[in-house]
Amino acid sequence: MLEIKDIHSYYGKSHVLEGVSLTVGEGELVTLLGRNGAGKTTTLKSIMGLVDTPAGSIELNGQSLLGQPPFRIARQGVALVPEHRGIFSILSVEENLQIAVRAGSRWQMADIYRWFPRLEERRRNRGNALSGGEQQMLAIARALLNDPRILLLDEPTEGLAPVIVDEIVKILKAIREEGLSVLLVEQNLRVCEAVADRHYILEQGQIVYTGSADDFRDDPGVRDRYLALS
Ligand code: ATP
Repeated sequence: MLEIKDIHSYYGKSHVLEGVSLTVGEGELVTLLGRNGAGKTTTLKSIMGLVDTPAGSIELNGQSLLGQPPFRIARQGVALVPEHRGIFSILSVEENLQIAVRAGSRWQMADIYRWFPRLEERRRNRGNALSGGEQQMLAIARALLNDPRILLLDEPTEGLAPVIVDEIVKILKAIREEGLSVLLVEQNLRVCEAVADRHYILEQGQIVYTGSADDFRDDPGVRDRYLALS
């Protein structure tokens, strides 16, 4: 469904992605791992049309996304939950959700509150009164209301307490069971191993490893070679 071939991305003259290729199949949850600065966020931004990507191809179900403005890419079914969450701090939880609701979407408010009971409890609280974990849940919930075909998540558990990380893991598993495709950037290996079908490792703007969840688990050397232990 999502097929990225040999993309090159730049910030000004700085050549950050140097020929990245990856795929995410229908209903697959794929992680993108790698040390700080490897280019993980840049890969997500490239898919969303937020970075200069003059070479390569990015297709969703055979339709090219490359070169389109971000709002068109979103309309074609790609939703990005950025690292810094992008929720409205002066609006309540319910208002944040209401502005994301779309007629005809597979997900409506009732689904969201069923999946995220904590958001229902907090529905009258303003965005800036939420904990980091609640803000993360709200950001994921807003993305789901857009009815994406693929969800791009940038480090959803960063800085969260272990019990909240467990809640995010539950939500990721539920999203996978619904058959949504997910590309997950995540530094917490425990989270990755709990939810992923497949992993990629990025190093200095290039994919250096790809393997199934089982291959990755059975080859601890990969971690030592490519990942700062986390
Ligand atoms: P992290 O876990 O630290 O977020 P990452 O793998 O997501 O790491 P990126 O944020 O994609 O890495 O950054 C890749 C490279 O691009 C880094 O060298 C970074 O300094 C550089 N970079 C990121 N954003 C910009 C920007 N807006 N302008 C210029 N260079 C940038």
